[in-house]
Amino acid sequence: ESTPGNALEIRGVTVKFGGLTALNNVDLTVPAGGVVAVIGPNGSGKSTLFNAITGLVQAHSGSIKFHGAELLGLAPHEVLERGVARTFQNIRLFPNLTVLENVLIGQHSRLRTGPFAAVFHPPWTKAEEEGARKWALDIIGLFGNRLTPRANQTVSGLSYANRRRVEISRALASKPKILLLDEPTAGMNPNETLELAEQIKSLHEMGLTILLIEHKLDVVTKLADTVVVLDHGDKIAEGRPDEVRRNEEVLTAYLGR
Ligand code: ADP
Ligand code: MG
Repeated sequence: ESTPGNALEIRGVTVKFGGLTALNNVDLTVPAGGVVAVIGPNGSGKSTLFNAITGLVQAHSGSIKFHGAELLGLAPHEVLERGVARTFQNIRLFPNLTVLENVLIGQHSRLRTGPFAAVFHPPWTKAEEEGARKWALDIIGLFGNRLTPRANQTVSGLSYANRRRVEISRALASKPKILLLDEPTAGMNPNETLELAEQIKSLHEMGLTILLIEHKLDVVTKLADTVVVLDHGDKIAEGRPDEVRRNEEVLTAYLGR
């Protein structure tokens, strides 16, 4: 029932919080190597979808297969080990650790148990440590000169946009097969947004599969092959960006007409 060539196959997923149905029987497919965007008004269930995929909330029913293997029921670290990495809408970093340390934690969580091991109890050989450091520097180098000169600064002193870049770097450090980005350009100015969209595009061109929650339709149009629209937990539309932009139901959901 799983189609080769599909990275992620979400079928009939329902998530309930008490009496609230946050996701209602949602289907979504991300082809391997594809970019799929999820859009929808606030509270429509977008972040809940990511939480269900990554084991942070339990789905009431349905199936989420990643390259044919069921993810539902796995713990978050097990989902990460399968090659599914994510960022959060509200940035989750260690503010008092440096850029490089935060990225090393992302890398380490894949390799060893306990995310703190990388920083506080390095059980590594010198060669391993040097390799890890170089890899982390390569990742932050994907953001041009934004993060590299700040590699040894603590995250608390960084701009909002740079913290977002560190969060993406940390996710990339786990060497994921698919990257889930929850509103990566939120709070960024137009120039920063454009720059990040280009960088996400180059990650895709390097072979990474991407599932993206994004409000800015120009970013969606630039990046996504397919757009899925959620409204009150229901998938109300799916198609190419230009198709979805013309869809009456989508306009209604956004404009409240
Ligand atoms: P979006 O990301 O599309 O803005 P969310 O997925 O965050 O929406 O939320 C969808 C709905 O589910 C909202 O009504 C929200 O309040 C509710 N919700 C999300 N997470 C929880 C939770 N852990 N407990 C209770 N309600 C939640
Ligand atoms: Mg959200």
